[in-house]
Amino acid sequence: MKFLEELGLKAVNPGVSTGTKWMQGNAGSITSWSPVDGRQIGQVGIAGEQDYAQVIEVATKAFEQWRTVPAPRRGEIVRQIGEALRARKQALGSLVSYEMGKSLQEGLGEVQEMIDICDFAVGLSRQLYGLSMHSERPSHRMYEQWHPLGIVGIISAFNFPVAVWSWNAMLAMVCGDVCVWKPSEKTPLSAIACQHIIAEVLERNNVPEGVLCVINGGRETGEMLASDQRVPLVSATGSTRMGKAVATTVAARLGRCLLELGGNNAIIISRDADLDMALIGSLFGAVGTAGQRCTTTRRLIIHESVYDSFKEKLTKAYGQLRIGNPLDETNHVGPLIDKDAVNAYLKAIDACKKEGGNFVVEGGVVSGEGFESGCYVKPCIAEARADFEIVQTETFAPILYLMKYNTLEEAIAMQNNVPQGLSSAIMTMNLREAELFLSAAGSDCGIANVNIGTSGAEIGGAFGGEKETGGGRESGSDAWKNYMRRQTNTINYGTQLPLAQGIKFDL
Ligand code: NAD
Repeated sequence: MKFLEELGLKAVNPGVSTGTKWMQGNAGSITSWSPVDGRQIGQVGIAGEQDYAQVIEVATKAFEQWRTVPAPRRGEIVRQIGEALRARKQALGSLVSYEMGKSLQEGLGEVQEMIDICDFAVGLSRQLYGLSMHSERPSHRMYEQWHPLGIVGIISAFNFPVAVWSWNAMLAMVCGDVCVWKPSEKTPLSAIACQHIIAEVLERNNVPEGVLCVINGGRETGEMLASDQRVPLVSATGSTRMGKAVATTVAARLGRCLLELGGNNAIIISRDADLDMALIGSLFGAVGTAGQRCTTTRRLIIHESVYDSFKEKLTKAYGQLRIGNPLDETNHVGPLIDKDAVNAYLKAIDACKKEGGNFVVEGGVVSGEGFESGCYVKPCIAEARADFEIVQTETFAPILYLMKYNTLEEAIAMQNNVPQGLSSAIMTMNLREAELFLSAAGSDCGIANVNIGTSGAEIGGAFGGEKETGGGRESGSDAWKNYMRRQTNTINYGTQLPLAQGIKFDL
């Protein structure tokens, strides 16, 4: 495939890099299979302990230099990374689509998000503002400033194989940090391709080796970052199970974590909703990326007066979905990432049926020509109850649960009464309902929307969620503060040294 060549990928690729230099990785290799057609795309080396030690040593040295480069000059490097991504958008987007299985449009959209966060970070490089405060002591000035933190470990999930890295790394870079990225073992080639793209920029600008590193591998490689005292911040995106393990390890050494974990997102569809809009929002939210977004719509909580008519419209729309190769833009739903994901999907359907769920659109694995990978499944819809165990669980697949409500308070309670707290939405034209949903008594999620669905987010806002979603915020707003350390400074420009709280210390 042409895009593999354009991105510098080979059949066997080194899996460890400190920027422009590569090491094979001495702990074996990962094979990347495409869920699109089941073919092997390539192999990537796994970082062993020795490789890891070397990367951290180089990154530590790089930090000493990088932290002293003025932030706007760091921003200039990020600007050039954005340009390099623009030039390779089609190739990288195609690879993301082929390796992960999302539609080509979504693959290109993911690369566009990388470009957007670069633009955001360039502006930010001139806006890393601190505050100044009025001192209670005469002739004193007090202010706070933000300093670079050190090495940021980035652990990413398969479903956004490149964008999540950029949300973290581009901010961390302008903040003066250096990054060590541990990509998902399910999408290692997308990470290698990124590293090739940025290496040209790093080399051209003589950026110190170690500012942007990558170490491929599985859970064990992530664990090295989590347990390493020299890594002050670990930003981890993935399942709640992984987040709990990483959080425990990092907390034991009193390090910092930024966690972006699972969601169980609901849309409340009010009797005052624009039902055509609600239909589009629900459909895209539930089946986009084959239900493999952290913000995928997993639950619809529908007012009883519109429940039957909405269910009918939705069922009809599901009947028109085309499942198939995601690189073919006429298809709506691509494959799941692998056969383990297919098994988890089948198990969830069984569990839902056992708890009394009624499938109005049946699921199942799609087989035959064009579906040889065995990873294509049918998006399905079940009528369920909020207290089903399976409804309380995030299944990373296109299964949508329908529930009925009577009062908005009841709907909000149902929406909140799950362990996760990432994204939420209400479809209503009623101002009172919208405002109640957004109020302190409303949604308990990190993202709450009115008249748009749960899925996706703009890079300008802080992204993340509460409860088992992990509490982290990355990307826009003031998320940059996670990547820096705050320092409070007091300067006495007077001739006296007044002690705090009026204490006298006469000698
Ligand atoms: P996963 O938890 O299986 O793996 C994620 C990453 O963590 C991988 O790189 C993996 O190697 C690493 N890892 C796993 N166990 C680890 C451990 N004990 N220590 C250190 N690293 C470890 O998740 P996945 O299947 O790749 O992704 C799907 C999950 O990610 C879903 O739950 C989804 O909701 C979540 N997700 C969340 C967000 C968000 O921003 N909230 C974004 C994307 C995906």
